[in-house]
Amino acid sequence: MTIAKPTRTKRMLDEECMREVCLFTARTFKTSHPVPYGALIVNTRTGKRLIRATNAVVREKDPSSHAELRAVRLACKKLKRVSLAGYTMYSTCEPCAMCMANAVWAGLDRVVFGATIADAASHCVQIHVPARQVARHADMACLVDGPVLRKLCCTLFTHPNMQRAFRSWKVGKRKPGK
Ligand SMILES: [Zn+2]
Repeated sequence: MTIAKPTRTKRMLDEECMREVCLFTARTFKTSHPVPYGALIVNTRTGKRLIRATNAVVREKDPSSHAELRAVRLACKKLKRVSLAGYTMYSTCEPCAMCMANAVWAGLDRVVFGATIADAASHCVQIHVPARQVARHADMACLVDGPVLRKLCCTLFTHPNMQRAFRSWKVGKRKPGK
């Protein structure tokens, strides 16, 4: 009988990358602009890290500066190409419709998320379109996996510094029926 050598499974890599992007994102809590959103892009086959980014909407005064969108922009610049085929993106939170559409356009193999849009919605406003739904409606294939390490990613939203920042974001929910 031969005993298989323990190999790093996809699940192990997913959790390793999610933990990493979570810790990276938590570093913003020590800055004047704390955010719960971070993204990391890695080579799908080797797991080699390519780029990471956090949400910079307030910092850059740009409503599209979501972590996932910035990570894709930086990754394409770094690789000097528009396709991210062969790469996987890890996000601390399920990508919004804009970021998921962008991930599909970029040709990412896979998107793995931590907290869900519903988790995030209990702290701040969201667009309630599941990432899987965006992917399903696309002609291009992009796998969506998650939640992975959901509880850990949710702690990014409940951290006291983040809770304080949420209060200053002052983005109100629309009134019912409007
Ligand atoms: Zn987004």
